[in-house]
Amino acid sequence: MLEIRGLNAGYGEVQVLWDVSLRVEKGEIVSLIGANGAGKTTTLRSVMGIVKPFRGEIVFNGRDITGLPTHRIVRMGLSLVPEGRHLFPKMTVMDNLRMGAYAVDGSKYRDLLERVFQIFPVLKERKDQLASTLSGGEQQMLAIARGLMSDPQVLMLDEPSLGLAPKIVKRVMKVVSEIREEGVTILLVEQNAKISLEISDRGYVLETGRVVLEGGSEELLRNEHVRRAYLGLM
Ligand code: ATP
Repeated sequence: MLEIRGLNAGYGEVQVLWDVSLRVEKGEIVSLIGANGAGKTTTLRSVMGIVKPFRGEIVFNGRDITGLPTHRIVRMGLSLVPEGRHLFPKMTVMDNLRMGAYAVDGSKYRDLLERVFQIFPVLKERKDQLASTLSGGEQQMLAIARGLMSDPQVLMLDEPSLGLAPKIVKRVMKVVSEIREEGVTILLVEQNAKISLEISDRGYVLETGRVVLEGGSEELLRNEHVRRAYLGLM
């Protein structure tokens, strides 16, 4: 469904990604794990057309989308939940959701809203509250819900566990699994390798801008390098 082939990208003169290749099949949850600064966010930004690649291709549903404008990529069915959420804090929950749906028409909007409120009942309860008044976990839920409001085929999540208590992280990961059950394919970027690999089918490990390991999630959880570098185990 989504394939990144030989992606080289960066900022100005600084190259961050070196020949990154990965693929996400329909219906999968795929993890991209790596430490701070490994290039995970840059990979997602390249897919969304926010960062223009130096070289390489990004193919979505058989179409080359490399370098297309972001709004077109969103309309084609890709959505990004950014690191740090980037909500509109002075707007209500409802208005934040509406912002996510800028590319969908009226009748579709109502269906999407209903689906999102089914997945996140707490957002329905809080629909008239300002986003800034929500707890950290609720804000992350709202960021994911807003990402779903563009009706994506592939939802990409950038470190949804960041800054959340372990109990809340578990709840967020459960929701990510439920979203996959609903038919949305997921690319999950995480520093927290354990929780990410536990819910995914396959994973890639990114180190200083290069994919150094890939495989089934269970295999990666058993891998000695992953255990030592990312799980704090010997
Ligand atoms: P994090 O967990 O911190 O988000 P990451 O794996 O997502 O890490 P990136 O955010 O992609 O990593 O950053 C990769 C490298 O690119 C880092 O060295 C970072 O300093 C650099 N970088 C990121 N954004 C920019 C930018 N806008 N301009 C210049 N360099 C940048």
